[in-house]
Amino acid sequence: MLTITLKPGKEKSLLRRHPWIFATAIDRLEGKPEEKNKPGATALVQSSSGQFLARAAFSPSSQIRARVWTFNENEPVDHALIKRRVKAAVTYRAASVKDTDAIRLIFGEADGFPGLVADWYGGKQGYVVCQFQSAGVEAWKVAIVQALIAETGCPNVYERSDASVREREGLPQVVGVLAGDEPSDETPVTENGVRYAVDIKTGHKTGFYIDQRDNRKLVMDHAQGRDVLNCFCYTGGFSLAALKGGAASVISIDSAGDALAVAKRNMALNGFDEARAQWWDADVFKTLRTLREEGKRFDLIVLDPPKFASSPQQVDRAARAYKDINLLGLQLLRENGLLFTYSCSGAISADLFQKIIAGAATDAKVDARILRRLSAGIDHPMTTNFPEGEYLKGLMLQRI
Ligand code: SAH
Repeated sequence: MLTITLKPGKEKSLLRRHPWIFATAIDRLEGKPEEKNKPGATALVQSSSGQFLARAAFSPSSQIRARVWTFNENEPVDHALIKRRVKAAVTYRAASVKDTDAIRLIFGEADGFPGLVADWYGGKQGYVVCQFQSAGVEAWKVAIVQALIAETGCPNVYERSDASVREREGLPQVVGVLAGDEPSDETPVTENGVRYAVDIKTGHKTGFYIDQRDNRKLVMDHAQGRDVLNCFCYTGGFSLAALKGGAASVISIDSAGDALAVAKRNMALNGFDEARAQWWDADVFKTLRTLREEGKRFDLIVLDPPKFASSPQQVDRAARAYKDINLLGLQLLRENGLLFTYSCSGAISADLFQKIIAGAATDAKVDARILRRLSAGIDHPMTTNFPEGEYLKGLMLQRI
């Protein structure tokens, strides 16, 4: 058996049940030569004094050299573990996720599968879409796919392992059918009564921002009669929610023309009146300035930008970008208007994000109050000992 022995003192984070073992914490690796180079091999992890700490998936070329499968000495890493955990993950979603057929079934560490994402679109006739982002889940791919099919009753599984993080694990990018049928270009889903076409094969992530479900619903519930501005609209998630909620007008901005084309088709799919919606292929930073100069004002603004900080080194620059758009967003609000603002940068904590927004309000010379703190939906759980899992945070603010 492959055995990882840590340097003295380096067992502390594992004893706190943080699931990552960094290369720098390892004193020595023992085992057969073929195991020592095998991505995803199961390794026993022990302290410098030989105390059992965990069983983990070994990743020979990653800085995160191993990711924990279990802290329980009596729990073997086998097919039964895979089946048990997939079943638990699917059962939990079935009980807790309502009013949608776009569901995150497996969310990495929080579901006991470090580096795995599995999303389910369109029910049993639809598709499960997986992203294998670490050597451990890659090595158990066949068993994971079989378990997903068995637990969902959906025979179609598609792989979207084209995330750049795979390179850090020494894994190539792969996209394609894992089981069943090839998806068509658009898989229909219905979320809170709104229909969306999801492009599983080429859309962002696995095709859709499932994590924003509750936040789209919140916008829907506050849109009645309002003039809405949705920045970074992608395929129109928040825009369609606002239209469904009775918005008087919705202007949506994104710099990706192909995403806007899908957004327009989504609007037609729902039969919404085209006169209520405008889709602008433009840069948000520039457009917000132009709107301010023109004296335009809105009742409800959504700012859901891409990840501005991909690493702790980028936090300062990202903070300036968040501040910039939020300052402009606050100035563009009418009195009592609402701002729904988000950050999906894992490197920016909820605390820091709130400070950035406070700074934006000060500089904008706008008084605002926080109505709610926002996060991803209930199908994106976080383990208490793994803060890295918390990436999406947001605030619902009101200009006063
Ligand atoms: N709010 C969306 C997801 C946003 S993803 C939803 O709920 O589905 C981020 C989007 O920002 C992408 O579609 C990307 O094309 C767009 N984007 C990135 N930088 C931009 C910029 N400077 N101006 C306009 N759009 C931008």
